[in-house]
Amino acid sequence: MRRRALVLVNPKAGAGRAVKAWKAARPLLAEAFALEEWSSERPGHATELAERARKLAPDAVLAVGGDGTVHEVVNGLAGSDVPLAIFPFGTGNDFARALGVRPDPRQAAAVLLGGRTRRVDLGRVHGHYYVQVAGTGFDAVVAARVNASGRAGTGAVTYVRHLLATLLAYRNRPAALRPAGSAAPPAAGPILLIAVANTPYYAGGMKICPEASPEDGLLDWCRIGDLTRIEVLRALPLVFSGRHVRLPKIDTGRAPAVEVDGPPDLPVHADGEVVGHLPARFECAPKALTVFVPGG
Ligand SMILES: [Mg+2]
Repeated sequence: MRRRALVLVNPKAGAGRAVKAWKAARPLLAEAFALEEWSSERPGHATELAERARKLAPDAVLAVGGDGTVHEVVNGLAGSDVPLAIFPFGTGNDFARALGVRPDPRQAAAVLLGGRTRRVDLGRVHGHYYVQVAGTGFDAVVAARVNASGRAGTGAVTYVRHLLATLLAYRNRPAALRPAGSAAPPAAGPILLIAVANTPYYAGGMKICPEASPEDGLLDWCRIGDLTRIEVLRALPLVFSGRHVRLPKIDTGRAPAVEVDGPPDLPVHADGEVVGHLPARFECAPKALTVFVPGG
């Protein structure tokens, strides 16, 4: 008997390329799965659809889109046993990249058909789950700009454009970071940004927390201190390989939860969506999501 899969498609993902890629993947699944397709029509809609989907207890929920789509779907599935298959056909596919799922219709279909799943951690801040990276500071201000720009795209080029524009106006802000339960004094002082990561990548391949694993029950943090603009421009290319963590004024750590205090107007993002302001507590939600992963 065919298994049942609910397919949540973001028709706008990847400037429409997601729909085309999905059409190539669909026939490969038709023998094994009865597929029911739902289309996400507006911001937040994929979360509602995923909440509806989980109640039907299907054999799989498929997210067809990019990181924005995955973020929304995960917020509807978190804490359930319904396994998620990612068809990473968006502009940014960083979470899929972290799991080894490539933006290729054949491989993505093979991952689902292979049937191998893992339980992975999620991050949580201000009541929102996240799969990749959350944080505050410069990148959260960039996220606010990208959010406000009507999401022409969230790939590296768009991101870097907003990043450079923000760089001209941004001043480093004072903030204090404390791993929850730590008796040590908080790391305090001006910051460019603080990132608290579940998986290494965000913003179209930037490896902000290179060692982050979604299977250790901990969040990795990276605190980028009082860098000058020139230092930021020097550090930026290194973020794509993760080598920035060796620079002075940058420190990293790992904890089940991290508390950050600072100016209440400083936004907090989760997977590039602004979800609130400081202060904030970032927590790991261990094994809160089941996902299909490549076998072997
Ligand atoms: Mg971890």
